[in-house]
Amino acid sequence: MTVYLVGAGPGDPGLLTLRARELIDAADVILYDRLIPPGILDGVAAELVYVGKQGGGPQMPQEEIDRLLVQYGTGGRTVVRLKGGDPFVFGRGGEEALVLREAGIPYEVVPGITAGIAAPAYAGVPVTHRELASGVAFVTGHENPDKPETALDWPALAAFPGTLVFYMGVKALPRIASQLIAGGRPASQPVAVVEQGTLPGQKTVLSTLGEIGSVTGIRAPAITLVGEVAALRERLAWLETRPLHGRTVAVTRARAQASALAERLRGLGASVVEAPAIRTQPLPAALPDLGAYDLLCVTSPNGAHELFARLAAADADARALAGLTVAAIGPGTARALGEHGIRPDVVPARAVAEGLVESLAGIDMRRALIVRGREGRDVLPDALLERGAEVDIIVLYETVAEPLDEATARAAAGADYLTFTSASTVRFFVAAAGSLAGPRIASIGPATSAALREAGVEPDLEADPHTPDGLVAALLADAAR
Ligand code: SAH
Repeated sequence: MTVYLVGAGPGDPGLLTLRARELIDAADVILYDRLIPPGILDGVAAELVYVGKQGGGPQMPQEEIDRLLVQYGTGGRTVVRLKGGDPFVFGRGGEEALVLREAGIPYEVVPGITAGIAAPAYAGVPVTHRELASGVAFVTGHENPDKPETALDWPALAAFPGTLVFYMGVKALPRIASQLIAGGRPASQPVAVVEQGTLPGQKTVLSTLGEIGSVTGIRAPAITLVGEVAALRERLAWLETRPLHGRTVAVTRARAQASALAERLRGLGASVVEAPAIRTQPLPAALPDLGAYDLLCVTSPNGAHELFARLAAADADARALAGLTVAAIGPGTARALGEHGIRPDVVPARAVAEGLVESLAGIDMRRALIVRGREGRDVLPDALLERGAEVDIIVLYETVAEPLDEATARAAAGADYLTFTSASTVRFFVAAAGSLAGPRIASIGPATSAALREAGVEPDLEADPHTPDGLVAALLADAAR
C-alpha cells in the first residue's frame, strides 16, 4: 500500500487540488498537521490522526511522526500524510519520504499550493514581475538552532536579485530586516507581511525594511515578502478590499436554499457559517382539479417545487395551469415557477403577503387556490375572502427543525451577523440555540422581524426589498457604517 504525501494548500479550502481531495476521500488513515484548511476533513471516513502542535505547545517529535508513518504504511491501508501548503516546501516532506524509502514503503507526492506564493497572491503581490523581480527565493525565517551560525548567508540573500519570501519569520522580523539592510538592501525597500493568507482572517501589513521591525501586533502564521513587488499591493489588493472581508455572517435558512445566499456573501468577502435552523418536509396532499380555479397563488419557492412534484406524480405537467392567473409572492417564488415553465402573471414589488394582496387588486377572481406550507399566515386568504372569492388552501409541506450541532451553534453565536429569512427560521433557531445574544441581527422583512420581536429581540437591520438580494444590500450598508 502507498503512503501519499499530500499538500493541502495554504488555507482557502478552494485551493485544495483535485488529487488531494480524491486521496482524502479514499484514504483509510490521514495523519494531519495543524495548518490545514478548515473543514476539508469534515465527514471523511478515514481514521484521523493528529500529529501537529498541541495548542501553543510543542510539536509532536518528528521521530514519533516517522514511526507512525512506517507503522501505518506497513499496515496494508491507504495512508495520507496531509500537510499545509506544499509537502516539500518547509514541510519536512523530504525527510518523511526518505524514511519511507528506507523502510521500503512506496509513496507518492502530491504538491500543494505553497503559502509563499498564495498568501502574496491573495494580498495583491505577484512574487515575480518583469521589471521588478526576475527571481524569487523561499527562505526560512526560523533557522534550526542546532545549525552552525552561518546557516543563512545574509549578504548573499541581500544581494539576491529578486523577491525574498520568508516562512516562519514573525518572531525574527527585526533581525531579518536589519541583516538585509546590513547586507545592502535599501531601508526604503517595501516589505509586506501577510497573516493568515487566503483565510477569512487575512491581514496584510505593508511597510519598509527600515520600519517593519518596529511594527507590533503581527501574528503567525505569516509570510514576509521583501522586494519592490510588495508595493504593488497598493494597486493590486483585491481580497481585503471586499466590502464584507473580515466579517462572519451566519445563515439560518434551510440548507437547500442557503447556498445561493452563502455564495453571494462569500463573493463579497464574508466568511459564512451555515447554520440551517429549518428543513421542509413534503406532506401527503392530493391536488384538487386546478381547472376549477381562476387564480393560483404560490407563496414560496418550496411551494412551487412541491406543486410540480405532485403534478409530475399525477403524470401531469405545466399545462394543468393553463388558463389560470398565477401569482407568486416574490421574485424567488417567480424564479422557482419559471424553472417549471410558468411565468407568473402577478409578482408584487413587496415580497410579503400584504404586497401580494395589493397586487391582486383589480384581478378578477371567483375561485382562488393558495399553495403553501403548514405555517402560512392568514393575511392572503382573509383578504381574498373579503373580496368575495371562494378560497381553498392546499398545504403541501411543513417546516421542521433542523438539528443544530454544538460547534455550529457556537460559530453562529460568534458571528458578526445572524441572518433570518423567515419567521420559522427565527422560531426554530431560537429554540435550538437558546439565545440570539452577540451578533447583529439581520431580518429579511416585517414578518421575520415580528417573529424576532416575539422572541424578545429587536432586529438591527431589516431588508427592503424583502428578498435575499435586499438582505445582502442591507448587510453591505450596515457593514459600511
Ligand atoms: N509547507 C507549508 C509551509 C509550512 S511552514 C507551505 O508550503 O506553505 C509554516 C509556515 O508557513 C508558517 O510559519 C508561515 O510562515 C507559512 N504559512 C502557512 N500557512 C500560511 C498562511 N495561511 N498564511 C501565511 N503564512 C502561512
